[in-house]
Amino acid sequence: MPLDIVTIPCLSDNYAYLAHDPASGETALVDVPEAAPILAALAERGWRLSQVLLTHHHPDHVQGLTEVLAQHPAKVIGAKADAHRLPPLDVAVSEGDSVQIGDESGNVLDVSGHTVGHIAFDFPGVVFTADSLMALGCGRLFEGDPAMMWASLSKLAALPDDTIVCSGHEYTQANARFAETIEPENPALVARIAQIDADRQKGLPTVPSRLGVEKATNPFLRAHVPEIKAALGMTDASDADVFAEIRSRKDRF
Ligand code: ZN
Ligand code: FE
Repeated sequence: MPLDIVTIPCLSDNYAYLAHDPASGETALVDVPEAAPILAALAERGWRLSQVLLTHHHPDHVQGLTEVLAQHPAKVIGAKADAHRLPPLDVAVSEGDSVQIGDESGNVLDVSGHTVGHIAFDFPGVVFTADSLMALGCGRLFEGDPAMMWASLSKLAALPDDTIVCSGHEYTQANARFAETIEPENPALVARIAQIDADRQKGLPTVPSRLGVEKATNPFLRAHVPEIKAALGMTDASDADVFAEIRSRKDRF
């Protein structure tokens, strides 16, 4: 049975997620920007947390943890590489390890780039990417370099197209304004932007998204596309160099 996913808006533009396995009744929380909306979402459904999965150490992803654990004493799982700067972990994981939510087993992926040590959790049909792959965007490169982020995004792009992508922020509309400067004539992008603008007008979240849609529209997953290379005057450049150019244009946008 697939996991039930609940998207929880937190702070001004963060998202936390609940992943509930109906068969076992286990519920995992992915990232903890702030406690109140998460505790409310759990109470509303009568769910108890069994584990907390942390994607990376930034405060806007971990700072509500102590308050959540006070009411839900769950097992905390995060990257071994970042154990020194994450809250205390019960289980430290690396790429290749698996994480269980009831009977559902997820793979830990190293998706370094935004930070070195950022991980993603890849469950059947759903991947939690936080600040690596985002809706129509990707995280800023605070610690890693473009080649590292391109490798991380390529790993995520290899998952099945119908995978649901649960990312960490509502940055999609700003990402859309940038994406249309890279590929103004991509019909899939034009259609997606119309949907994003309509959803935001109504105050609806633009996440989760579908990986197949990201692959067709997200400029940061499209550095290998010949038309994009040509448009940037980088026909013979490597995919990672084209990604670097797109990322640096976004940083200056
Ligand atoms: Zn971050
Ligand atoms: Fe963040």
